[in-house]
Amino acid sequence: MNEIQFNAELAKCLQCKTKPCMQACPVKCSPCDFIALAKNGNFTEAANTILRQNPLGEVCGLICPDKFCVKACIRAKIDAPIKIPAVQAFIMRRAPETEEMNELHNGKKIAVIGLGPAGIGAAAEALKRGFAVEVFEKAETIGGALNLIPKERLPREVLFKEWQRISKNYLLKAHFATEINDYITLLKQNFAAVIVAVGEQKNRRLGIKGEHLAVDYTEYLKNPQKYVVSGHIMIIGGGAAAVDCALTAVKQGAKHTEMLVRRGLSNMRITAAERENLLKNNVDITTMTRPLEIEKSGSLSAVYTCKTKFDENGRLTDEENTRIKRESIDLVVTALGSERAEEPLENAKIIYAGDFINGGTTAVQAVASGKNAVAEICERLKI
Ligand SMILES: Cc1cc2nc3c(=O)[nH]c(=O)nc-3n(C[C@H](O)[C@H](O)[C@H](O)COP(=O)(O)OP(=O)(O)OC[C@H]3O[C@@H](n4cnc5c(N)ncnc54)[C@H](O)[C@@H]3O)c2cc1C
Ligand code: SF4
Ligand code: SF4
Repeated sequence: MNEIQFNAELAKCLQCKTKPCMQACPVKCSPCDFIALAKNGNFTEAANTILRQNPLGEVCGLICPDKFCVKACIRAKIDAPIKIPAVQAFIMRRAPETEEMNELHNGKKIAVIGLGPAGIGAAAEALKRGFAVEVFEKAETIGGALNLIPKERLPREVLFKEWQRISKNYLLKAHFATEINDYITLLKQNFAAVIVAVGEQKNRRLGIKGEHLAVDYTEYLKNPQKYVVSGHIMIIGGGAAAVDCALTAVKQGAKHTEMLVRRGLSNMRITAAERENLLKNNVDITTMTRPLEIEKSGSLSAVYTCKTKFDENGRLTDEENTRIKRESIDLVVTALGSERAEEPLENAKIIYAGDFINGGTTAVQAVASGKNAVAEICERLKI
């Protein structure tokens, strides 16, 4: 978004009294207010208005889907909704934020496990409320699943900038490359509570013969340059992660990028913008089809597939006599999403947040969940 487009978006805002855009935002960030401040040229206060609700204000401006504030924007009744996420990102980029930092210690210390959006949201909120916070992240860097988003959509320096701002607080101590699995022992180490925000660490499997011959989406998206193909790439799956794999493959020069989806086009859990992007990039979507077996001969793979259908009870079943062999595939990627790798413990001082407890959601929902976990701790500890 350039300056002219930005100003045009600001001018469109109707300053709706009931602030439906804010009501629809999982962290209750108020576009109505930050747009009004930016219109008056007060970028610093506009950025602080965003940051007070969302410590990942710029990240979310870049990746929030249209299903929250944009979907609720009243301006759609006149022409088109305001491009709120892009406006938010623009303000964050432009503003010299000076968000006031709380450095008053409430005397209590909490641990946060995992530094994806939920852990970051929890840590920022806990610092704001005066807790000393120790965070433990098993990877060497912040971001969790955000690190799988292609860099064109989310440049990593934006994420680091947000973390730099949060981690300036002297009440925060961060441990990277530190995996914690025993939360009870932490509680015995002088932590008043533990927030577990470890996301969904287990990739879903197809459970078919030859599955090991495919590359998993987390591996593919972490390291796409390792899997460059110029021919045919088949992505198995129809969600947002599969879309990112397909668009990455196109960008890396694959001549034929195909998504294999068990259900119909209308059942795919992707946004209108994602669907449009797939079409624009000539990604083939083979619907109502599932893989049965993968085999390899030389450097090429073959995938046996069959057609699927919904039976009279709405259940997805295989269509008889539709098994075929799809050959000469350069790379098969499985992108079925993830699930949590452990079950939550019942303990009043252990609170779970983010995708671990809510399933695959979005960054802004994970931040909201991390913040709510801190509010819950305060309630339980009567702070
Ligand atoms: C390909 C892809 C594209 C996406 N695109 C978007 C998008 O466009 N917009 C959007 O809003 N959302 C998007 N998402 C979803 C978003 O990234 C997630 O909803 C969000 O990251 C979940 O946050 P979380 O903190 O709950 O978990 P995670 O981000 O998974 O973070 C969990 C963290 O915990 C750490 N951890 C795990 N176990 C331990 C342990 N035992 N000890 C210490 N640390 C541990 C992990 O290393 C990780 O850093 C996308 C996700 C994927 C995979
Ligand atoms: S709903 Fe749309 S038009 Fe109304 S205040 Fe929010 S951003 Fe502005
Ligand atoms: S954080 Fe995301 S959902 Fe909330 S107002 Fe900003 S762009 Fe919209």
